[in-house]
Amino acid sequence: MTSTNAQLFERAQRVIPGGVNSPVRAFKAVGGTPRFIARAQGPYIFDAEGTRYIDYIGSWGPMILGHGHPAVLEAVQKAALDGFSFGAPTEREIELAEEILKLVPSMDQVRLVSSGTEAAMSALRLARGATGRNKIVKFEGCYHGHADALLVKAGSGLATFGNPTSAGVPEDVVKHTVVLEYNHIGQLEEAFALHGSDMACVMIEAICGNMNFVRASVPFMTRLRELCTQYGVLLVFDEVMTGFRVALGGAQSVYAKLIPGFAPDVSVFGKVIGGGMPLAAFGGRRAVMEQLAPQGPVYQAGTLSGNPVATACGLATLREIQKPGFFEALTASTRQLVDGFAAAAAEAGVPMVTDSEGGMFGFFFASQLPQQYTQVLATDKARFNHFFHAMLDRGVYLAPALYEAGFVSAAHRPDDLAATIEAARQSLKLAL
Ligand SMILES: *Cc1c(COP(=O)(O)O)cnc(C)c1O
Repeated sequence: MTSTNAQLFERAQRVIPGGVNSPVRAFKAVGGTPRFIARAQGPYIFDAEGTRYIDYIGSWGPMILGHGHPAVLEAVQKAALDGFSFGAPTEREIELAEEILKLVPSMDQVRLVSSGTEAAMSALRLARGATGRNKIVKFEGCYHGHADALLVKAGSGLATFGNPTSAGVPEDVVKHTVVLEYNHIGQLEEAFALHGSDMACVMIEAICGNMNFVRASVPFMTRLRELCTQYGVLLVFDEVMTGFRVALGGAQSVYAKLIPGFAPDVSVFGKVIGGGMPLAAFGGRRAVMEQLAPQGPVYQAGTLSGNPVATACGLATLREIQKPGFFEALTASTRQLVDGFAAAAAEAGVPMVTDSEGGMFGFFFASQLPQQYTQVLATDKARFNHFFHAMLDRGVYLAPALYEAGFVSAAHRPDDLAATIEAARQSLKLAL
């Protein structure tokens, strides 16, 4: 007898906490039974019951080429035959570093790690080591992985520091973390006036994909860059989600087009960079990166860092996305999808707003695009959950929580997009 999703979920919960190895997979936000995925091909994932879904998660971003891209498969198979891991340097790590630096001109050097969490945590330590300061700033609604100092929400005022958002994080560990409202220039200025000369870095998701899809406004980003420069604070762009996804040069290239001379000081990458394998990176200007061990005093290391199979996968992926017209086509597909959603919502008389950049998109059941986290929380969650399940029933796999962005891959063909929009039309017309 073949296993069903429900049977697998029950069995999983006996041996794995909550039945999953990362919380959002458990469908807690939307209810229902998570689908256990057996395999994937192109734009589709297939669950344990053999049901096919058009996949708009793409492993939460990495699968920008779709699943099982032939050039990537070939590179991974070839690398695997040469050995899984050596714990010694390889030429492929240099090739990948060179490729990344070519695409991200704000960085002179880059170090490879194995997860976005690790990259963000290391960037934080580097910023503190390089500046000799302890305080860090993050914004409510941005996610930078689960390092202790970053699992924090705003305290009662700017003079007080944040509160841990997870048990097991001592208040002492987050006492140097200042949490600010996204897109709030006045509060940003106030925080710099109060703590600017003690701040090591400000970390931000410039196009935030962890509160669905919210852009930092150009005036906000302009002011943030000015203040960081004025106070000698490192501006850290967390591009784990947006890197090689919203544009070839990431979110920073989007802002560089809008703000003359704009560049962050340190950047953090993950997801697309590994093409679905455990690979992430952080990098910046030489003077900052030289602070890292073995050259400098900031310790950072990893047994599997720069893994030969993962780097082969990442390198093959990065080469594919540089082919002429790749991002133009991906951008157009993604735009077509969200425009289709918006038209279907208008037809059904349901308030919905959408946005997208490159191959990343968001939609809200609201009449205006949110600018910060509390506005995201105020969007219609019941309607989102209803829509999510109606879409799932029609073979469309969206992120199972309204706090998540969506992703289109190069493997999504016009008929996949049309089928998705038709599913949205039907789902939005159901009585809500
Ligand atoms: C996914 C994500 C992370 C964490 O990456 P992991 O590989 O899951 O540890 C960090 N920052 C952002 C912006 C992310 O989207």
